[in-house]
Amino acid sequence: MGVCNACRYCEGLCAVFPAMELRRQLSGPDVDYLANLCHSCGACYFDCQYAEPHEFAIGVPTVLADLREESYARYAWPGFLAPLFERNGLWVALITAFSVTVFVLGFILFSNPGVLFASGSEEGAFYRAMPHNTMAGLFGSVFLYSIIAMVLSVRKFWRASESQGSASWRSIWQATRDAAKLRNLEGGGMGCMHKSETPSNARRVAHHFTFYGFLLCLASTSTATVMHYLFGVQAPYPWWSPTVILGVLGGIGLILGPIGLLGVKKGSHSALRPVSGSGMDVAFLVMLLATSVTGLLLLFFRATPAMGILLAIHLGVVFALFLTMPYGKFVHGLYRYVSLVRHAHEQAGDKQ
Ligand code: SF4
Ligand code: SF4
Repeated sequence: MGVCNACRYCEGLCAVFPAMELRRQLSGPDVDYLANLCHSCGACYFDCQYAEPHEFAIGVPTVLADLREESYARYAWPGFLAPLFERNGLWVALITAFSVTVFVLGFILFSNPGVLFASGSEEGAFYRAMPHNTMAGLFGSVFLYSIIAMVLSVRKFWRASESQGSASWRSIWQATRDAAKLRNLEGGGMGCMHKSETPSNARRVAHHFTFYGFLLCLASTSTATVMHYLFGVQAPYPWWSPTVILGVLGGIGLILGPIGLLGVKKGSHSALRPVSGSGMDVAFLVMLLATSVTGLLLLFFRATPAMGILLAIHLGVVFALFLTMPYGKFVHGLYRYVSLVRHAHEQAGDKQ
């Protein structure tokens, strides 16, 4: 970063370099802030005249990718759980999904075994397998835990950055626009150089599918909550309902996006990957993919005898997704947003 601050060749590529130039010295939280501003587009690696084989061996994307992964654990809440996910992210997610699936299957067999192979797409069919209040209690608890853990982590991240004063609405609006457009994945305008010096928009497109697919699924779940509590209509919902339409569109996005991102990750240049590679980013993508695939399978086959088993698998996967969200790639989205707010705040001179 010291060499970069003297060189400044890359200052037009993304938000990292202008943020770095405001600092003569970089503290730990400063570096975490820069790491979460970085999108690993690779432009600064392929543009750098001091990258290997130069003796300086500058490799900004690798260093920032490593620091970014470390930041997930550093700011995680509760901190003692972070190493478990850090070392075995994918396995923890898969074992949780499997265990909850077995639990739900056991619950159905114990309470109402006839439902396991009963088909049903009529209103309230899912709750014959597991009563609504039990399902809401189980998943509401893990969802609440996940939200609390993420809010406390983001608060810790924001406080560690020693930002003075509150961010203005203008900074928040600027950060929201940059996040929605994934502006910094443009690599200075040409696209992302994840494989070679040839820019491509594949990663940005896959990222958009994932991001907007996630928002559509969230909207689908929210409409289901409104239908249930406000209008007293129980799941499963008909094909033409907003819940199903939003869920199908979001599910398609959450299949195309994570597959695209996993493909890009597999073929990416070694200089853009973290050296440590905890695998929590892969775990998050795999769980997103599994959530959308099992959700769509449940939708398509809910009127068949497979409904009970598909419901149990889907619930298991969703539970594991919620539980692992605060300890992996998902929090990068939150830290990144906070970093963008801070960046807009600093660039507008609010801080000074
Ligand atoms: S990455 Fe290389 S070219 Fe870019 S600012 Fe740093 S030293 Fe200069
Ligand atoms: S990899 Fe891309 S986003 Fe990250 S510092 Fe380099 S140019 Fe910026």
